Amino acid sequence: MKGWWNRLARVDLSSRKVRYHEIGKQLLKDHVGGRGLGARLLLDEIDPKVDPLEENVLIFAAGPLTGTFVPTSGRFSLSSKSPLTETIMDSNVGGSLGSEFKRAGLDALVIEGKAQEPVMIDITEERIQIKKTDLWGLETGECFSELEKESALIGPAGENQVRYASIMTRGYRVFGRGGLGAIMGSKKLKAITVSGSKRVPVEDEKALKDHVRKAASKLDSSPVTSRGLKKFGTPILVNLLTWLGMFSKHNFREAASEEEADNLSGEKMREKIVQKHEGCYSCPIRCGLKTKTKKKSGKGPEYESVWALGSNIGIFDLEKTTELNYRCNELGLDTISTGGTLACAMEMKEEGLWDELGGFGSDVTGLLDKIAHREGIGEKLAEGSKRLCEKYGCDLSMSVKGMELPAYDPRGAAGQALSFATSNRGGCHLRGYMIGEEIFGVPKLFDRFKTGGKAQLVKRSQERNAYLDSLVMCKFGAFALDEEFYSRFLTSVTGERYTVADLHLVGERIYDMERWFNVKAGFDREDDELPKRFCEPLKKGASSDNVFDMQKMLDDYYEVMGWNEKGEPKKETLERLDIPDI
Ligand code: SF4
Repeated sequence: MKGWWNRLARVDLSSRKVRYHEIGKQLLKDHVGGRGLGARLLLDEIDPKVDPLEENVLIFAAGPLTGTFVPTSGRFSLSSKSPLTETIMDSNVGGSLGSEFKRAGLDALVIEGKAQEPVMIDITEERIQIKKTDLWGLETGECFSELEKESALIGPAGENQVRYASIMTRGYRVFGRGGLGAIMGSKKLKAITVSGSKRVPVEDEKALKDHVRKAASKLDSSPVTSRGLKKFGTPILVNLLTWLGMFSKHNFREAASEEEADNLSGEKMREKIVQKHEGCYSCPIRCGLKTKTKKKSGKGPEYESVWALGSNIGIFDLEKTTELNYRCNELGLDTISTGGTLACAMEMKEEGLWDELGGFGSDVTGLLDKIAHREGIGEKLAEGSKRLCEKYGCDLSMSVKGMELPAYDPRGAAGQALSFATSNRGGCHLRGYMIGEEIFGVPKLFDRFKTGGKAQLVKRSQERNAYLDSLVMCKFGAFALDEEFYSRFLTSVTGERYTVADLHLVGERIYDMERWFNVKAGFDREDDELPKRFCEPLKKGASSDNVFDMQKMLDDYYEVMGWNEKGEPKKETLERLDIPDI
């Protein structure tokens, strides 16, 4: 079998034992790797109702293309149950961690149990060791300077089990969203280091080289991958989304003006703070930004972060927002949920519900440290906006299933609104990214305000992203590469024939498996809702005077998914997709 090693390592932190297993050819073929393999293993590993900070597991998984020379194939996936949303959760990271892991001869790593004292895990081709560590208590930058190898680690936020703590990797590529860093903290696991040099076996090198050459030429000729992302990074989106009335401010209360947003734009970043561009393993796009303010230097901010730590909290000063982003990286905080929680708290302040912090635009630098260390009001903020609102009896949390929404006002795009509502991991743009179809016209432009036909498009997008996350490849490549490329890459690496339809079947299986996990954890139709704010139209901008009939869109969506009216996959759907009962 090529592309996969068929090898999984299991590390039990309680007993300090390491074991190795075969995964099984059929399981790999049906789930591919990354997110798909992680979701399938998770169904066997935990009861969906477990307390995520008590009996959880962490499942790292590479894909069959990881460690090869396929462009944008350097990503690495992590699956678990989220302490923020209590849903199934996966996250994937760029950089070089995934390729090192794959070249160490592993497809997946399951971490279970809890250590008695702070530890780290060291992975090499020869063995896996659990080691005592004295890095506990250090911020992420201090840890990276102590470790020579590729590593994934947590900062104070993860140690203190902040529900939206991230896991950072070298070069500040991040396993963000959903608080997976808090799970490492709950296991007293500070860091994982990895090194490997094995050559990943490829079935048909000659065919693969040919497909890669053609893909490189496509990536080089697409305006998005060869100019937009390459020149400005993801913040290229700021001015475009503002022009469309979808770049909000003040906890989604209204659209930011062009003058306000331009201060945070990719163009302004390039002019004022960008030092150089960086790329992940085997990626010609190189969208990463190394930046410098008057006082500090670091990575980012990305589009989502420039919005979450800027416009959403009423800060339109690029230097201030950039430094908040640096601080989140050092503390190991997810930038979107940090900004979303602060924005919610600021609105509570303005509504007279809470007076322990300032309103929109106030200085929050010290608050980030308080959140990461759970000190003072940081204790309440560390729980995320949904739990904060539950405590104060208000509905100002702009989240879905408890995860704070990213930087696209859903009133500006019907498909994206449906995609947010039905995302299996909560408020997230990466399950189904309808901005491609509704804004960029990739692969084809659809009217962003029309609801008809969007259910089918969202389903296709969710399937595509699920299989990309399982290969594990970067979604940005899909702005230039049509789906045939992915079936050709996978077929030539593994020797197993995959058509585009096969890839969609894999994607559908993954999406329904995740949904099935959530159903068993207690989620249903009522959780597929956007916050009430989005039932009121925006008053200004190019997306004003518009709301969508979400219940009708949900009905259409459940029908195309083969789910019942409560949003549960029907028996025949589970059987068709070979999804086991839990
Ligand atoms: S496009 Fe950006 S995030 Fe994606 S693999 Fe390339 S450098 Fe990494």
